[in-house]
Amino acid sequence: MTMRTLFTIPVIALIAVSSLTAQPAPPDLILSNGKIITVDERFTIAQAVAIRGNRIVAVGANAEIASLAGPNTRTVDLRGRAVIPGLIDNHMHLLRAAATWTKELRFEGVISRKQAADMLRARAKAAGPGGWVYNIGGWTHQQFADDPRPFTREELDQLAPDNPVALQESYYQVFLNSRALQTLGIQANTPDPPEFVKGTIQRDAGGKPTGIIRGDIAATRPVAAKLPKVASGELEAATTEMIKDMNRAGLTSVGVPGCSADVLEILEKWKTQERLGIRIFCIEGAAPGSPEQVDRALGQIGKMKLFQGDSFIDTVFYGESVYGPLHDPMFALKSNPTPDQLEIWRRMAMEIAKDGLPLHVHAELHDTIDAFLDQIDAVNKEHPIKGLRWTLAHINQINAAQLDRMKRLGMYAAVHPWAVINGAIMHEGFGDGAYDMPPLRDLQNSGIMWGFGTDGTAANQTLPFQTLSFAVTGEMVGGRKVLRQTISREDALIAHTRKNAYFVFQEDNLGSIQPGKLADLVVLDRDYLTVPSAEIKDIKPVMMLVGGRFVYGTP
Ligand SMILES: [Zn+2]
Repeated sequence: MTMRTLFTIPVIALIAVSSLTAQPAPPDLILSNGKIITVDERFTIAQAVAIRGNRIVAVGANAEIASLAGPNTRTVDLRGRAVIPGLIDNHMHLLRAAATWTKELRFEGVISRKQAADMLRARAKAAGPGGWVYNIGGWTHQQFADDPRPFTREELDQLAPDNPVALQESYYQVFLNSRALQTLGIQANTPDPPEFVKGTIQRDAGGKPTGIIRGDIAATRPVAAKLPKVASGELEAATTEMIKDMNRAGLTSVGVPGCSADVLEILEKWKTQERLGIRIFCIEGAAPGSPEQVDRALGQIGKMKLFQGDSFIDTVFYGESVYGPLHDPMFALKSNPTPDQLEIWRRMAMEIAKDGLPLHVHAELHDTIDAFLDQIDAVNKEHPIKGLRWTLAHINQINAAQLDRMKRLGMYAAVHPWAVINGAIMHEGFGDGAYDMPPLRDLQNSGIMWGFGTDGTAANQTLPFQTLSFAVTGEMVGGRKVLRQTISREDALIAHTRKNAYFVFQEDNLGSIQPGKLADLVVLDRDYLTVPSAEIKDIKPVMMLVGGRFVYGTP
């Protein structure tokens, strides 16, 4: 008894003392002497940030943060550099791209035709005679400011006479050389391959294929499907390179429609090994394309498991397609959703609402958006969607009245400016109306919750600073002014960080540099807020932390 009493008393005393002098453990890491663009609600600018484990513990002035340091705290002098929260892309088809990423000749950030030609020659040499040289979207010939013309078959023949070449511009068209036409079985006098959409193989007056395949996703996809993918044994290495490229561009989190299982498995493995350098939030759904498939899909919706509570990999939305026939083609000018199709769409949406699932749905053309909103109005009367963050995605054509309807329904807007690479095509199709696509100022003024994504890696390019540049200057890649409704740098950055955190259901963890949030930060080579607007697109990260760990650049 005595022993026990003696033993107990000092323990109680110790607890009392420690709670009286409670000092939080010192931070592991301090970044000081920088320009910390916190993107908090007041858009505070600070000098230093303290990190313990994977979270931010303090943000403030240099002296104040330095006073928190302990003997084991590592301090990094930022030497005046600007720091922003990790950038989030709320909609990029990223995992699918791993299967081709290292085989693709990606043209993001390539602004001269000469550079593109040099890259193509080098790739052909590396591939050896007969090896494919290709890319699957993410670029446009207008980005080559020195010579913004489409590629010709002859030009590609000269650059790579011994290799099949296929260069896909967004989902608009593919440029092929002679070897590629031959390899794909497209000859002057032979019939079109059966899987090719009739009329999409462009031919000259003599009937000879010009090397251009044109006709939206239905025409470009059959070509892409024939291109070689990385071997399954190389998928992990390709995924490594792809994620590195995303970090290099400033991205720390991505909303991903259709998370490919094989790539997801690799990322899960890295997560358990604590070496995953990007956060992935999947958007998943059955994507039925016919009434029969809808019957099957309806039974599956209720079984979907969203929100496992993980801040590195999680599934957060149903999407991005509700019913295939109402999935607007990218380059269509007008849609005509029929009552039958809309009735099916509503049955699906009703089930999604009934099961309490968030919805992230592809919606682009004006009439489609109106029709979807009519259905959502009806769904909302039976199963209120407030709080479910139902989101219309892409919405380059949305107008002020539609935004108002969305806002009243408590909906969100995931904005993917296709014009960053497709601006010239959109102006050709929509005339001056394209200057308001997307209506960024209307979105900003409406007060709706909205955030940026790209819809890369094929439909659009993937670089967030290119998107921010477009939002601020209205210029597409290559410099042509295609958007009238520009917004401030601050509002653009907020839409790519703090507001986007809502689109991955991580607003308590991500999107700003504040105590308590996960330490996802990007140190930049120049100051986003003061650099001339023409240079925003050229900003490069020099260091990046994800969850308090350096994943890119070394201090
Ligand atoms: Zn889409």
